[in-house]
Amino acid sequence: MTVAYQLTQAGTQLSRTTVERRPLGPRDVRLDLKFCGICHSDLVAASDKLGGGIFPMVPGHEMVGVITEMGADVTGVAMGDTVGVGCIADSCRTCSSCEDGDEHYCETGFTLSFNSQDSEGRENYGGYASDYVVDYDYLVPIPAGADLARMAPLLCGGITVYTPLKRFNVGPGTTLCVLGVGGLGHLAIQFASAMGARVLVASRSEAKRADAKLLGAEVALDPDSEDLQAWMGQCDLILDTISNPHDLNRWFPLLRRGGKLCLVGVPTEQLEVFPALIVFGDRSLEGSLIGGIADTREMVAFAHEHGLGAEIELIQPEEIESAWHRLHEGDVQYRFVIDLASLSDA
Ligand SMILES: [Zn+2]
Ligand SMILES: [Zn+2]
Repeated sequence: MTVAYQLTQAGTQLSRTTVERRPLGPRDVRLDLKFCGICHSDLVAASDKLGGGIFPMVPGHEMVGVITEMGADVTGVAMGDTVGVGCIADSCRTCSSCEDGDEHYCETGFTLSFNSQDSEGRENYGGYASDYVVDYDYLVPIPAGADLARMAPLLCGGITVYTPLKRFNVGPGTTLCVLGVGGLGHLAIQFASAMGARVLVASRSEAKRADAKLLGAEVALDPDSEDLQAWMGQCDLILDTISNPHDLNRWFPLLRRGGKLCLVGVPTEQLEVFPALIVFGDRSLEGSLIGGIADTREMVAFAHEHGLGAEIELIQPEEIESAWHRLHEGDVQYRFVIDLASLSDA
């Protein structure tokens, strides 16, 4: 029996109930879930604003748990191992994207770990629950001694920022500017600093600018001040984590020749680009979605090695609804994580 927090329809309240996981297949493992992060895309799915929502829905795609059952064909992990599951629960495994380790760009569409159906059409309920069943290919090992609650948000938020930092070779000698200090931005600062880059951030919030420096940023810019002038033409990469509509054109001039502005936030409205800012500066606008399983495993190992993780507010399952409300208002430092222990004891 799986205890879970479920919405019966779009926009309804979460209620505690029981759901049925699929029977364990030969390649499946069952996890006793310990923690699940709350990601903004849980709220988007629950509201069904983008359509395609499958209800009743159990959200949650930043799961950390312990293996309590294994199918006959599972290899490489053992009972009692601590593992994570992020956004991806399955993919075709044969297309060129899957073969390249980019399962999130699977040509037949990857299977989300919640709000989706498995290959036999059964609904995948997410991680606001006592347990989870998943194919072992999509597990992310969590190193021994890791702070599990701080690791959970890495499984979506962490990989979202790690992928473009890796793709654009961020490291010593790179100057990076992170736009927005929130769930994604506060992780980007930590990863880029650990990679040896010079990190700038831009945030309207004085408190967040102060936090950014504690997290490793060298310079914290107030976008409404004259601060930006000193940095024109200085940056190799701008990582834009802002999910509200905003002006891109004021940021391109911070890039040096060949510099890139990469979106990881996803505003749902059009953003305007003044072409001369790209053409004359040999600059480009990029986008990046989460990351593949191999990169997610690498990212978690890197985070553990460098002692970094999400700054979290740990909550009990009864508090999810109010946490969602606060997240909607942008009132979180910097990621909510649900302590699921009370569900498995039920
Ligand atoms: Zn997410
Ligand atoms: Zn594929």
